[in-house]
Amino acid sequence: MEYRRLGKSGLKVSALSLGSWLTFGKQIENSIASELMTTAYENGVNFFDNAEIYSRGESEIVMGEILKKKAWSRDTYIVSSKAYFGAGGKLPTQTGLNRKHLFEACHGALKRLQVDYLDLYFCHRPDKETPIEETAWTMHNLIQQGKILYWGTSEWSAQEIMEAHMVCKQYNLIAPVMEQPQYNILHREKMEKEFLQIFKTVGMGTTIWSPLASGLLSGKYNSGINESTRLTMDGLEWLKDSTINEARVNSVIKLSELANEIGISMPQMAICWCLKNKNVSTVILGASKVSQLEETLKSIDLMEKLDAEIMEKIELIVNNKPVQPAF
Ligand code: NDP
Repeated sequence: MEYRRLGKSGLKVSALSLGSWLTFGKQIENSIASELMTTAYENGVNFFDNAEIYSRGESEIVMGEILKKKAWSRDTYIVSSKAYFGAGGKLPTQTGLNRKHLFEACHGALKRLQVDYLDLYFCHRPDKETPIEETAWTMHNLIQQGKILYWGTSEWSAQEIMEAHMVCKQYNLIAPVMEQPQYNILHREKMEKEFLQIFKTVGMGTTIWSPLASGLLSGKYNSGINESTRLTMDGLEWLKDSTINEARVNSVIKLSELANEIGISMPQMAICWCLKNKNVSTVILGASKVSQLEETLKSIDLMEKLDAEIMEKIELIVNNKPVQPAF
């Protein structure tokens, strides 16, 4: 395993990590969740990602039980939660980034995960109805209270992240250190364009999500949906519609041929491609089967397969390289 600094912070996170969205407490049995975490941990993964909204709190409960049973030393892993969407309740006081919800969501996550503190705590989305001062002060206070160690954002714009930094500077507060954006071969704008300047200035770390575009980049949908997966689950029609379309599948068919040429699997090529970006601190893997995780974890040793020539061939297939801003 390779370990990368989370932005300018001193925290070293494994370049591959494991997340629980749609799987823990929902798609998979708890015994599989346990096997996934064990496989990850034994392969050097030190970061497990979670959020209050995942299976409406159930994902954190499942992860908490596994952490308790495994009894891994607390100084050997990093665990996160995210607040904004709530853990199920939709009353005005149960969502958002206001002081009350952030405070209560943090305590809820600590209880469900059965830990004394969260290593990483994310604002899952920006909140247009809460002043950034209120959110930044709350995060700072949670750090001072020993409830969380680092705070960050997810799917915030560069402007919103910089506003948070300005407020933190103004009041001498501990600033956010990481952002969690979607990033994969088919989704590149934020990581390769919008955030470029703030990677240089504030030195933001990134914990990236959906590296396989919800499984599309595994190549398993190249000839249609032939097995039961997250895209066939009830209530996830929106995900299926936003994940699969003809143009995207056609690109993946060509990418799969290229992966075959260089002797690695399509999921491995997609994960290696993310890892090649030095602004990526960690790629959060998702898996519904242990065999999937075993396959993607091997990517860490396959990065040299994607040399400059192969990277160029990928560009020619996807033809979606964000145009660099002129600084
Ligand atoms: P991916 O895009 O990598 O999708 C993972 C899914 O792809 C698996 O659950 C599995 O689903 C399928 N898959 C994985 N490996 C293989 C393989 N080798 N062969 C075939 N299929 C495979 O990542 P996720 O979308 O799961 O995101 C990863 C993590 O990021 C989440 O768990 C969560 O922690 C975080 N996240 C954060 C978000 C945010 O807003 N901050 C949003 C979304 C995720 P199946 O078997 O069902 O096809």
